[in-house]
Amino acid sequence: MSFNQVINKYNWNDIKSKIYSRTANDVEQALSKQYRDINDFISLISPAASAFLEPMAQLSSKLTQKHFGKTIQLFIPLYLSNDCNNYCIYCGFNKSNAIERITLSKKQILKEIEIIKQYGYKHILLVTGDNPSVAGMDYLKEVMILIRPYFSLISIEVQPLDTDEYKELINIGLHSVYIYQETYNKESYRKYHQGGSKADFDYRLETPDRLGTAGIHRIGIGNLIGLEDWRTDAFFTALHVKYLEKKYWKTKYSISFPRLRPHEGVFVPPYSMTDKELVQLICAYRIFNGEVELSLSVRESSKFRDNAIKLGITSMSAGSRTEPGGYSERIALRQFEVHDHRKPAEIVEMIKSQGYEAIWKDWDKNFFKLSKANTQTKVWQRD
Ligand code: SF4
Repeated sequence: MSFNQVINKYNWNDIKSKIYSRTANDVEQALSKQYRDINDFISLISPAASAFLEPMAQLSSKLTQKHFGKTIQLFIPLYLSNDCNNYCIYCGFNKSNAIERITLSKKQILKEIEIIKQYGYKHILLVTGDNPSVAGMDYLKEVMILIRPYFSLISIEVQPLDTDEYKELINIGLHSVYIYQETYNKESYRKYHQGGSKADFDYRLETPDRLGTAGIHRIGIGNLIGLEDWRTDAFFTALHVKYLEKKYWKTKYSISFPRLRPHEGVFVPPYSMTDKELVQLICAYRIFNGEVELSLSVRESSKFRDNAIKLGITSMSAGSRTEPGGYSERIALRQFEVHDHRKPAEIVEMIKSQGYEAIWKDWDKNFFKLSKANTQTKVWQRD
């Protein structure tokens, strides 16, 4: 059964009213359990749970440390192209925005990498818009081969691909793919995505299934906060991860919770989320799922990111530029406005000052090597 078939069993409005009718008693019960199901998650994201932020934060912190220790993994995005054939009305790269379109050449990419490597990064996230004629498979393969010597971990956040295409990229070193559904509400999705290939809700929704089938190491999912009721979208995101974990159990998972930020265009998000609500959501995801990576981007303020370290976050971007060529020369329009402008070294200091360790690459990858090495030679050599 695909996830599309799974969500068809749920009615958006029924789930929403369940969330909004939960009581303090339901929240207490969810918090007291050792093992929690999706029904408990509903209680944890309900308005009733906002009165339990302190115990939720403590439990979330404890569960995070149990699985991840006191570590925060760092990664940096490299925007390769802002060219896009889609019309997502909330995005600065939207085809109808009259902006200069740029797709980085190999020479420009190497210039960007020179700066990124000075920061110390080993994990890079390649980002493009969605225009396969300029940044399709051939381009992605060439870029991956070009940058492979410089990074121990390469992730992508690009247009959805077919299973065989993912397999090809995995064969040349792709580690993780981030693919956000934006909203799980089909009707709203149609409203926000009125043209281009991204208008196909089903194809996007089935992308993590194609990735799982291709055998990817890690899949990142999430929804864009501001497009719909965040609590109901969070329910479907949590359900999606649970479904994937069960079906593709060798793959690791990550959840992001981007809040809409100002960008080129006139879109005003119809829904909002306060900082307190974002804290509640981070804790709820962690209490429901102790093993999922929770990632926080530079869309959030420095104050919020500092405080989120101890809540349950396990991964952060830092020093990010969200325009192609942004590290070496400001040559194109950014996708969204960055909120935390601190340099990577400052973020590392902030992480250290809270008693945590900044990790420049994915430990899972090493554990994977360890288990492989153990079965062969009983010797573990870190790279
Ligand atoms: S969100 Fe992605 S697909 Fe949509 S317009 Fe922006 S870059 Fe293109």
